Amino acid sequence: MKKRVLGRTGLSVSVVGFGGIPIQRLSPDDAVKVTLSALDAGIDFIDTARGYTDSEQKLGAALVGRRGGVVLASKSMVRDAEGMKGEVEASLRELGTDFIDLYQLHNVATKDQLQTVLGPGGACEALEEAREQGKVRFIGVTGHSRAVLSEAVETDRFDTVQLPFNPIESEALEDVIPAARARGVGIIGMKPVAGGALASVAAAALRYNLERGVDVVIPGIDSVSQVRQNARVGVDFRPCSPEELAALEKEKSSWGQRFCRRCGYCSPCPHGLNINMLFLIQAYYERYDLKKWSLERLAGLDTHYGDCRQCGECLPRCPYELDIPHMMKRFAAQVR
Ligand code: SF4
Ligand code: SF4
Repeated sequence: MKKRVLGRTGLSVSVVGFGGIPIQRLSPDDAVKVTLSALDAGIDFIDTARGYTDSEQKLGAALVGRRGGVVLASKSMVRDAEGMKGEVEASLRELGTDFIDLYQLHNVATKDQLQTVLGPGGACEALEEAREQGKVRFIGVTGHSRAVLSEAVETDRFDTVQLPFNPIESEALEDVIPAARARGVGIIGMKPVAGGALASVAAAALRYNLERGVDVVIPGIDSVSQVRQNARVGVDFRPCSPEELAALEKEKSSWGQRFCRRCGYCSPCPHGLNINMLFLIQAYYERYDLKKWSLERLAGLDTHYGDCRQCGECLPRCPYELDIPHMMKRFAAQVR
């Protein structure tokens, strides 16, 4: 398995990592089996989150007696120092470890949120204290907004940045990736097969990402066969062939106007729909097959797909020309 150094953390990690979202839907025994098969295949970077329901707990069970040699990352959406202290303790407990290699501020979505986490009493303060105490080794940030992540990287408070990157969503090549490279910030590529949209060309998508500045990709993994397929990319490490690039291009153009990048440019919707959140939930429902989880998230929103008035105000604001009202209608029928 090819290894790389994750930026200024100096941690050596397998180029193919383990994304901890999908094991939520596995039984505890299957989650342990899949995780151990990943470790046996040489995958040694594992990413999870407080928000992924029982993912930390399942990984903790798998790591009993196998913690050594694993680079473990988790993250939390909590934004204040007091709350973050509790989150770190909860992660340590669930993961059954006395230190976490990388703790990330999960999905910092706006510049205001970034100011909050970095300011006095913000979550970053608690992570820096946890680092001094040896509970956390490095601190990272994750998100979908390139503007926010670019600013986060410039602060020099983060050792890694985690962002969506894949052949459909490669715009970070223009800003976040070069900024992170210039400052030695490690780059973790989430959604490397575009949340399942590129599943038919998954190996090529992983190679594409790893060739373009991402240090480690973290595809979500929920079966031993997926472990084998993904690990092969790190073992047989090479650039995409011309045939693979052509196949990626074909898939990419078929998704071009159906794939939401969560950039948020379409907001605000005058009727209160959180468009990019609704499309994210749909992606989990449809492509990750996390139906129960998605329906619970939908139930927590005041407005959803069926509330779209089809006014079209958002249409000219989407730089990717997504037919948002049509998608809302289609998704409303799916989750009815
Ligand atoms: S078309 Fe739907 S989502 Fe778009 S602005 Fe109108 S109500 Fe909101
Ligand atoms: S619908 Fe378009 S503008 Fe809105 S978040 Fe998705 S990609 Fe961005």
